[in-house]
Amino acid sequence: MGLMDGKKGFVFGVANDHSLAWHIAERLHNEGAQLAFNHLPNPKMERRVRLLAEPIGSKVIVPCDVSDDEQIKAAFHQARETLGPLDFVVHAVAYANRDALSNPFYQTTRADFLQAMDISAYSLVAICQHGLEFMNEGAAVLTLTYIGSVKMIPGYNVMGVCKAALESSVRYLAAELGREKKIRVNALSAGPVRTLSSAGISGFGKVLEHYPEKAPLARNIAADEIGKSGLYLLSDLSSGVTGEVHYVDAGYNIVGW
Ligand code: NAD
Repeated sequence: MGLMDGKKGFVFGVANDHSLAWHIAERLHNEGAQLAFNHLPNPKMERRVRLLAEPIGSKVIVPCDVSDDEQIKAAFHQARETLGPLDFVVHAVAYANRDALSNPFYQTTRADFLQAMDISAYSLVAICQHGLEFMNEGAAVLTLTYIGSVKMIPGYNVMGVCKAALESSVRYLAAELGREKKIRVNALSAGPVRTLSSAGISGFGKVLEHYPEKAPLARNIAADEIGKSGLYLLSDLSSGVTGEVHYVDAGYNIVGW
């Protein structure tokens, strides 16, 4: 008997086997969930996602750029056709132009700011907006954030501003979707993990060195710890939890020196 037996969900944001979304997906699959996946609409990303998703039996692997409402709607339609109504959605998507992550923050261009906000923050609103009719009563939505939303982390720049908007969106969405359909919306704030996205953040190596020095657990997190806590926030184990930003960071966020 798995914790997620009979549950079906959509996972947005797998790029490869280092992706935090993949670590969550593996845990969900191991507990019996059936999963749908998106990939960026190009053959290389489709190949990468299929390589991971097909061996775990996924029947829904669809193109979806989250900056396009029509693609989001089409992705949910395809998932419902095959799986039926959904019990959970994982949103593990972020993007900022490399210049915006390497130049000083005050030099962020309007175009880069708006693009980063659209893909990294507004997409959660769009996914909830278009996904609502495809979700069961009591479904769970999970997004991924980082402490750069509430503290200045060198090099995180516009992505910190996006994560602040994302975390605030979690609270507004949780309040409304909870009343509307008992849907829970939470964020998991991950400590630094090497992935495709984090490789684009200048000074990321220094951040990884910093955590073992400062964090209460004196180490970095393992990627599977995101998988385990993701499973908790998407399963019935967290049935009374919504609107939260849950830190999985070896305790780093509590330290003030
Ligand atoms: P990743 O590169 O594996 O995942 C990011 C995903 O976003 C990729 O699958 C990419 O294809 C997708 N994406 C980008 N633009 C998109 C678009 N327009 N439409 C659809 N998908 C798009 O990296 P990751 O580190 O696993 O990132 C997942 C989430 O975790 C992000 O929100 C990231 O900010 C967050 N996070 C990561 C860390 C870390 O240290 N790795 C820490 C805290 C939070």
